[in-house]
Amino acid sequence: MRILVISDIHSNQPALEAVLKDAGDVDAIWCLGDIVGYGPFPNECIDRLRNLPDLVALQGNHDAGVLDRLSLTSFNHDAGQAIEWTRSLITKENLEFLSSLKQQIVIGEVTLNHGSPRNPIWEYLMEFNTIKDNFSYYSTPYSFVGHTHIPILYHMDENGTVEWKIPPVNECIPIPARSFVNPGSVGQPRNHDIRAAYALFYPAERLWEARRVEYDISKIQEKIRSVGLPPRHAMRLEEGW
Ligand code: ZN
Repeated sequence: MRILVISDIHSNQPALEAVLKDAGDVDAIWCLGDIVGYGPFPNECIDRLRNLPDLVALQGNHDAGVLDRLSLTSFNHDAGQAIEWTRSLITKENLEFLSSLKQQIVIGEVTLNHGSPRNPIWEYLMEFNTIKDNFSYYSTPYSFVGHTHIPILYHMDENGTVEWKIPPVNECIPIPARSFVNPGSVGQPRNHDIRAAYALFYPAERLWEARRVEYDISKIQEKIRSVGLPPRHAMRLEEGW
C-alpha cells in the first residue's frame, strides 16, 4: 500500500496538481489540513481534493479561520486578509466540505493532526519541550502532522530522548515507533526549498519517502497579484520561507 501524505496546500493549485501528478498511483491520500489560506485558488483546490477517491482530510487553522471558528486576530495581518478574501468567494459546497473536516483522525498505526495531538488546530511542533510533551498525547506508534511547513521527523527513544532528522528526499527510510513525521507544505514550503513538498507512506513496510516537485510558481504569483492578495504571499514562494 502506498499513501500520499500532503499538508498545507494553502490554495496553491499549480503546486497541488504537480504533487498529484508526481506521486502517481496511490491507494489513499491523507491531507493534514490548511487546504486554503494565503493563496488565490481556494475553490479550485477544494474541488480537486473532494473529488479524489480515498481522501482523508483534516481541518487546519486557516480552514477554521475561513469557517469563522478562529478569530482573525489569531492570524498575522496578511494571513487574515487572505482569509477574509477566501470567505468572500468560497462556494457554499466548499464551505460545507471544510466544515465537515475533523481535527484529528486515527487510522491504523497513525494519528493524524494538523498541528499537534494536544492541540490539533493550533499548536506548532517546533519548540523542543512542546514536542516532548506531545508524545504523551497519542497512543499509536506514529503521528503525522503539518502546520510548520517543515519536513521533519522527531523520534522519542526508550530513554525519553527526542532526536530529529530531515528525511532525505527520494529515499525510503524506516520510521521508528514513537515518531512525529511532517511531510512539509505543498503550497508554501518554508525551508528555503521552493519546490512543493509531500511524502509517500508505506504502512506495511513502515517506510517514509520525502518528495519534492517543481511547479509553475509564476502562475500562482500572477494570480495573487491580479486578485489583490498581499504581494508578500507571492514573494515568499520564490524564496521558500
Ligand atoms: Zn499552513
